[in-house]
Amino acid sequence: MYTILKKLMETESFIPHGEIYELLKSTRNPDRKMIEQIIEKSLNKERLTPIETAYLLNADDPEMVQMIFDAARNLKEKIYGNRIVLFAPLYVGNECINGCLYCGFRNQNKDIVRKTLSEEELNRELYALTSKGHKRLIVVFGEDPMYSPKFIANIIEKIYNFKNKRGEIRRVNVNAAPQSIDGYKVIKEVGIGTFQIFQETYHLPSYKSLHVHGPKSSYVYRLFGLDRAMVGGIDDVGIGALFGLYDWKFEVMGLMYHVKHLEERFGVGPHTISFPRIEPAFNTPLANKPPYPVNDYDFKRLIAIIRLSVPYTGLILTAREKPEIRREALELGVSQIDAGSSIGVGSYSQKDQEIIKKSQFVLGDTRSLDDVVKELAQNGYIPSFCTACYRAGRTGQHFMEFAIPGFVKEFCTPNALLTLKEYLTDYATLETKRIGELLIERELSKIPEQKRKILKKLLEQVEAGVRDVRV
Ligand code: SAM
Ligand code: SF4
Repeated sequence: MYTILKKLMETESFIPHGEIYELLKSTRNPDRKMIEQIIEKSLNKERLTPIETAYLLNADDPEMVQMIFDAARNLKEKIYGNRIVLFAPLYVGNECINGCLYCGFRNQNKDIVRKTLSEEELNRELYALTSKGHKRLIVVFGEDPMYSPKFIANIIEKIYNFKNKRGEIRRVNVNAAPQSIDGYKVIKEVGIGTFQIFQETYHLPSYKSLHVHGPKSSYVYRLFGLDRAMVGGIDDVGIGALFGLYDWKFEVMGLMYHVKHLEERFGVGPHTISFPRIEPAFNTPLANKPPYPVNDYDFKRLIAIIRLSVPYTGLILTAREKPEIRREALELGVSQIDAGSSIGVGSYSQKDQEIIKKSQFVLGDTRSLDDVVKELAQNGYIPSFCTACYRAGRTGQHFMEFAIPGFVKEFCTPNALLTLKEYLTDYATLETKRIGELLIERELSKIPEQKRKILKKLLEQVEAGVRDVRV
């Protein structure tokens, strides 16, 4: 049995379990100098090697942890500035043939209410979302033969075609089951943003015991899911691990080996990394008592370490987390968050008592989009709905922000301000508008005069009702 497992891991998987354990052991108790050197490399915008990440993971001394937090903050400011991109998840259907023990949608959960949006219901959800000001969605599906690539593509097309006065969705990302290469091609054709697949746990024995049946029980098929996406032409992919299923240090190493593999095979790493923690879910004992819970302190450590290890990726933090932890995590390098989220199927347009029975898990942050925009602006962040790169065909956008000197100042900040202005003009409450306008003024004052003049003109166009203005 052991030889079969070993063979499977070493020949078919790029997650070398033995090597990861060895690295996590040999890097224990790092000295301060070592941590300083690694941080310096990261601040020079170089991706860290697995052994360097392992040293950071083993820096348990509170002073060293503080150094890591400070460096992550520094790196975020230095490279990405103060923009936070906002999106919302849209659950399209929760039929599922898999048995992931932590998920409310698993097929043995007979008490969950199963639902797939009809065309009319989809339109109602889109109406609710665009009426709040959302411009970017991630569509989420359970795994079921009915959610075929064609079905997914069809939904995405409908979303792009939807119009609600000035409201529209300009970028659709996807979180769905891994597809075949041909399947990805069908989805690619309708113009998706990022295709996300979380490996859940990179630890093979845990994976096997948590995914007891269905297509998802194949660790390797899922692990190579984004390789097939790349081959199928989707070069914008997001990876992630569901924290709480196994040792968090191992999972961070798994993410790093995944990054390394994509870079080596395709010359480009993932666009985003997600690090959801398990949340309670209806009638799901394992989610209510995860086997390896990650406390808030370690959660912040892992975010900072991922930030430093892969300086070029976007980091996504979802509304699974409570507002307090979201506030703290933003500083450590997060670049995208969802807001005003509702994760029951159909629950943006229909609030009912059954929502918990239609949801995959329970959300930690249920504030409205307007509240989140207001708080971000109050705290000096620019809430951004920008989709300019994607719409201009500049994929690998995060990489450009990272690699091209001045790209953020030249494109990202002005576009963030223009989309914020749209939001403030069309959707914000009076108080949010007041705070947002002050932020725009402050940001304008930081821009050299010539460029400021141009941007001011564009902002005036937005005020006058022109939409989708971008540089
Ligand atoms: N069904 C597809 C799949 O499993 O790949 C699509 C994604 S699933 C609807 C979205 C993600 O939610 C999963 O990949 C998993 O990481 C996460 N998830 C599942 N149960 C969760 C829970 N109890 N708490 C937090 N996140 C959970
Ligand atoms: Fe189904 Fe995805 Fe939930 Fe697993 S995580 S049970 S595949 S919806």
